[in-house]
Formats: sequence, C-alpha cells, structure tokens
Amino acid sequence: MASALDMALQPITSILGHAHTGIGCPRIANRRQFLGLATTIAVAPALLLPRKSFASTARPDEIDAGFWLSARSVRLVRPNTSQRIELTYWRDGAYLDDAYSELCFFLLDRRERLAVQMAPAVFDLTFATQRWFELATGKRATTTITDAYRTNRTNVLVGGAELSAHKVGAALDGLLDNVTLPTYAAMLLRFSAGGVGLYPRHVHWDVGRNPVFWRSSQAE
Ligand SMILES: [Zn+2]
Repeated sequence: MASALDMALQPITSILGHAHTGIGCPRIANRRQFLGLATTIAVAPALLLPRKSFASTARPDEIDAGFWLSARSVRLVRPNTSQRIELTYWRDGAYLDDAYSELCFFLLDRRERLAVQMAPAVFDLTFATQRWFELATGKRATTTITDAYRTNRTNVLVGGAELSAHKVGAALDGLLDNVTLPTYAAMLLRFSAGGVGLYPRHVHWDVGRNPVFWRSSQAE
C-alpha cells in the first residue's frame, strides 16, 4: 500500500509528464538521465549524523495523517541576490500552476538565466523539512538555496557530476536556516526521497531515485 509520502512524491512521475507543460518552464529533455546518477560512495548515515537533535524525532507526517493533505508552502532565499520567495504551491489536492511556475523561475540557472520545469517532489521535500522545523521549534523556517537548476554548461563549469540531478530540475543545494548541515542532512534522509549529500557549506537533496547518502569534502 502506498504511504502518504509515496503519494506525495509520486507527482515526479505523474505531474511532470503532462500537467505543467506550457506554463513557461521548458520541458525536461530526458528525465531518465538522473535515474542512473553517478554517486560517490554511500556510507551509513548513522555513523556521521547527529542522533540527539530533533531530526531524530518522529517525522511530522508520521504523527499527522493529514500532513500531506494540508496546504504546502515554502519560504526560500537565494543568498547571492537576496531574492526571497514565500508562497503556497499546493492546495486542495493539486499543485497550483502559477505558484509552481514562480518557483521554477526562482530556482533558475542564475548564470544563463534559464528556468526548467522542476520536479514537484523536490518542493515537497523542502516543504516537509520546513514544517518539521517549525513544529519542533515554533520558529519560522527559511531554506537558503545556494544552487538549483543548472544547464549543462553551468554544470560543467561548477564541476557537477555528468548526470547531476541539478540538470533536470530534481535537485537543490542549500541549508535550513538555524539548523546544522549534518542535522539537515539527517532530516532529509528520513524521507527516503532520493539522494542527500553533505558538503562543507551546503546540503544537496534530490528526488526520484533510490535513497543514497554521501559526504564530500569538495565544494560541489
Ligand atoms: Zn547539489
């Protein structure tokens, strides 16, 4: 039986295929690309990640059956331009086209000023960790996005993996404000939504493949 999370993450295959064509974000050329992502060595998260933080408490959707049914909002900032966005992108069982499109443009490749149709599940994962933080601390959550969509050229320039999920709009880099990087990685891993990478100054999270964790001492 599909869990609520499975259903929440399922739109990466169902929504991208049809519902968001023609809203301004170019179609992803080949989503199969990231199914075969090259990854560095996966290690046991428990050996590297903190145990005694709220990341080890129950996931919000594990204690609230209605978690994925209530409105989904995110609050994001891109530090290089100080651009901020705060919006509700899912409500009453559907992604909201205008908000979804705004998010895609907010997460564009800054170097080439190109946006792509992002995987909705990467928004859901970001939303879920924000809500978790808010429920645990009583404070507003903001996710700082240091990198998002990358064109092939940008990906080459920054030394990204050849099959990087950034190239298909299925990955984000950044941090959850007021949360350590290892704790944020632990929170993301708890959703088993895809890849989570722990870097010196950011966390990478992507969706649409089997869960994998890696740690890197390199910038990207
Ligand atoms: Zn990344």
